[in-house]
Amino acid sequence: MALMVQAIRGMNDLLPEDTSIWQQVEKVLKDTLSSYGYSEVRMPIVEKTNLFCRAIGEVTDVVEKEMYSFEDRSGDHLSLRPEGTAGCVRACLEHNLVYNQEQRLWYMGPMFRHERPQKGRYRQFHQTGVEVFGIDGPDIDAELIALTYDIWKKFGIENDLQLELNSLGSAEERKAYKADLVKFLEANFEKLDEDSKRRTHTNPLRVLDTKDQEVQKLLADAPKLRDYFGAETKAHFEGLQKYLDNLGIKYVLNDRLVRGLDYYNLTVFEWTTTALGAQGTVCGGGRYDSLVEQLGGSPTKAVGFGLGMERLILLLTTLGKVKANPSVDVYVVGSGENCEETMLKVSAKLRQGLPGKRIMMHCGGGNFKKQFKKADKFGAKVAVIIGESEIANNTVTVKNMTDKDSEQREYAIEAAIDAIKEILN
Ligand code: ATP
Ligand code: MG
Repeated sequence: MALMVQAIRGMNDLLPEDTSIWQQVEKVLKDTLSSYGYSEVRMPIVEKTNLFCRAIGEVTDVVEKEMYSFEDRSGDHLSLRPEGTAGCVRACLEHNLVYNQEQRLWYMGPMFRHERPQKGRYRQFHQTGVEVFGIDGPDIDAELIALTYDIWKKFGIENDLQLELNSLGSAEERKAYKADLVKFLEANFEKLDEDSKRRTHTNPLRVLDTKDQEVQKLLADAPKLRDYFGAETKAHFEGLQKYLDNLGIKYVLNDRLVRGLDYYNLTVFEWTTTALGAQGTVCGGGRYDSLVEQLGGSPTKAVGFGLGMERLILLLTTLGKVKANPSVDVYVVGSGENCEETMLKVSAKLRQGLPGKRIMMHCGGGNFKKQFKKADKFGAKVAVIIGESEIANNTVTVKNMTDKDSEQREYAIEAAIDAIKEILN
């Protein structure tokens, strides 16, 4: 049967097996963020287009080519958010959260970019974003990296990700550097790939990020941003490295790491893996000390990161570090005249006595064989059986589904709850 309407390319449904994994991963992220004292913010998914143009930069890939922009019925120019930082800063300014204050915030949710869909790259994807305002670092920069490292450790993937680190210096340092870089690129213009030619005059730093092997070789002789760093930038960058060394977090310095968005300065970092092919960046972030002012606030130091949920989950499943949870702990089966009445009551009592456990009641009748098949299908560890004798004796029978050889036993409901606890632990 041909489906009349299918999902949009690059926008995925998450089915029960997926959501079971997503929920486990989200819980680890939320618990970790909470353990650092960070608070959640939730912003709209749609913002005015000019917010992104001003925040991210007109000549970035995201704004130039990747945004889902449209005019709504009132003629307002709106875009689905391609990232969360711009909206988070907007929200903080609108509600006066950052003036003379410190904030450590996080959010989790969908982002939209019109890119070519492939493994690890989608048009609707999800990020966990963290934004910290009002602290100039590098201690907080180190904390953010340590926080991500904690997350990897909780999943046992800390050795599967590599931390790449760079400093983009201050705006003045970048300006001086850019002038010399453009001279170098112009002198070698004919050797550049098409993207790099275009970027030479729109966004020259992004040329450093080229995937073209030949251009990469050429760039070995290009001027280096670090040679333009003043004392402050050097102290900031060296401070961060010292903190990371003390924490035992390994990193590689990568002076080609520039990141795609315009608002970064000083610290930039990415966590990358070789296990996912070309889409190897799982998490990226850095400092963006000028963005708050650029969006109309008073100068406010800021640092953050975005973690790609699909890529993290792809990595975790590829490495076998998470698996879908069965959806049910206890399955209640029954047979006999009016057994449903008792099943409904018993299920309610089980839920009360077994908080946090998943109790599913069989519905729709059928013989026990069919009902036990369902219990297996849902991965139930325990079956609670209600037959005619149980109804007559006001008892239930408990069967351990994880140990086929164990005897099933009849209990009064309170004792049954204790027996089930024993099996589930
Ligand atoms: P890439 O270089 O892979 O395009 P990016 O620099 O555009 O990444 P950011 O804007 O820094 O990405 O977003 C932070 C993280 O969000 C990325 O490191 C990645 O894990 C994830 N991400 C970005 N774009 C996508 C996408 N289209 N699909 C899935 N995940 C994405
Ligand atoms: Mg991108």
